[in-house]
Amino acid sequence: MKTDSIYPINGQSDNLAGNDLLPAVNEATTVLAQYVTDSATGNIPAAQIKPLHENMALLNAEKLIQEGGLKDGNLSHFVKTYVDHSTRLHHPKYLAHQTASPNTAAAIADLMHGAINNPGSLYEMGPTTATLEYVTLNWMLRKIGWPEEPLGDHNTSEIPDPNTHGAGVLVNGGSLANLVALLAARSAIAPDAWENGNPSNLKVLVPASSHYSVARALSIMGLGKQAMISIPVDANERIIPAALQEKVTQALQQGHQIMAVVANACTTGTGLFDPLEDIASICEQHSLWLHVDACHGGVHLMSNKHKHLIKGAERADSLVWDAHKMMRVSGLCAAVLVRRATHLQNAFQQQASYLFYGSESPGIDFIYRSVECTKNALGTKLFMALAWEGEQAIADYVDSRIDATHQFYDIISTRDGFSCPYQPESNILCFRYGDDDALQIEIREALLNEGLFHLSSATVNGKRYLRFSVMTPQTDDIVVTELLDTIEKRWPLD
Ligand SMILES: *Cc1c(COP(=O)(O)O)cnc(C)c1O
Repeated sequence: MKTDSIYPINGQSDNLAGNDLLPAVNEATTVLAQYVTDSATGNIPAAQIKPLHENMALLNAEKLIQEGGLKDGNLSHFVKTYVDHSTRLHHPKYLAHQTASPNTAAAIADLMHGAINNPGSLYEMGPTTATLEYVTLNWMLRKIGWPEEPLGDHNTSEIPDPNTHGAGVLVNGGSLANLVALLAARSAIAPDAWENGNPSNLKVLVPASSHYSVARALSIMGLGKQAMISIPVDANERIIPAALQEKVTQALQQGHQIMAVVANACTTGTGLFDPLEDIASICEQHSLWLHVDACHGGVHLMSNKHKHLIKGAERADSLVWDAHKMMRVSGLCAAVLVRRATHLQNAFQQQASYLFYGSESPGIDFIYRSVECTKNALGTKLFMALAWEGEQAIADYVDSRIDATHQFYDIISTRDGFSCPYQPESNILCFRYGDDDALQIEIREALLNEGLFHLSSATVNGKRYLRFSVMTPQTDDIVVTELLDTIEKRWPLD
């Protein structure tokens, strides 16, 4: 039977997958390489945020879905239009959110995954993918100082005691990572909650400075906001240990069970670290689960110069760490790490029927540790970002961004009209121009609309601030001085 379809169901198809991959990749990567270079040199606007309907028209989106055509000579044009109207995270004046300025290895890893599509959540569906997830998780466990997850003995099927070593899983983002870590915490204190629901006296102590995903996770878990006890914080939104101690005592006296204490390393808004050593001491004293949200500041573990700020994290029970923030990895790649593997294995079921080791399984099935079934090759991205130049290069990048932020603090806080509420501890800094909340918002929006600078904004202690995260390797003192000059000239204070 002769058919006009390009997908004949009999005979030899000449439509071999892969025939068009090489020319298409060449075409697309030529545009992408130019885009990254143009963005990093900063000679073009930092942002260009057109209304949605204009982008639809520019991208010719509706027509292309119906008629196709990307394949036939339209790919370059489409890719160029798409990236030209994107938000340029490689731009030195991109200072807004904590989203990585990805390195070349991250881009290649995404392409590799796009070509082979091995999810890695089941070992047989992605043996090399799962291998790199295992390797990168163990690397992270070692950075914290927790015993890494050993491989079982392949000959004897002997399973190492999961209470004697750590474990982890990579998930699609820090928000999901917080949920998984809190499920692990619940499995420790209320193991039958998976079957019977939450005990009514379960409470979680959380500072108001926590990322909103913590509150979301607790609501998703059916605990609701009522289960959250707020830990008092200081003027810069750091947990006050004495106040935490008081809240713990009070909660226990009232007959509550404390499922977890959540601390930040560092907080999203200010980039400051909670006093982890003091918090860990309180948790140890009462045998409470300590969860450290190190989505942003996990990288401090890599920095000889700055790791003292995250000291105490090794005394926690769980820790989450986003590689897609400060590790040059494209979104998403977040790690959930636990000190004792048992708790992660129990997070999703009462009696874990797992078999990760031994002769019956050639590798680890990460599917039992996460919400996702199919997922991207998260470990591959992280591995390649590290392996591109070696881990020291990423550590140097982290140090350089934190050191730059210290320098920017000096420049900003000594200039008339500008102020910073605190000395930075990471690459995040809040600052204020003049003394009017509305002015901060006006400045941010005007600079963004005109494509000059992309800043974010945050409230600290009830006041509105301009905020930046120094993500690109190119942001330097010249950029920050130009920012201050621009603000001063445009909005003179009288
Ligand atoms: C960014 C961040 C999160 C959320 O991570 P996503 O990967 O964006 O979901 C959670 N907690 C903290 C402290 C963060 O900085």
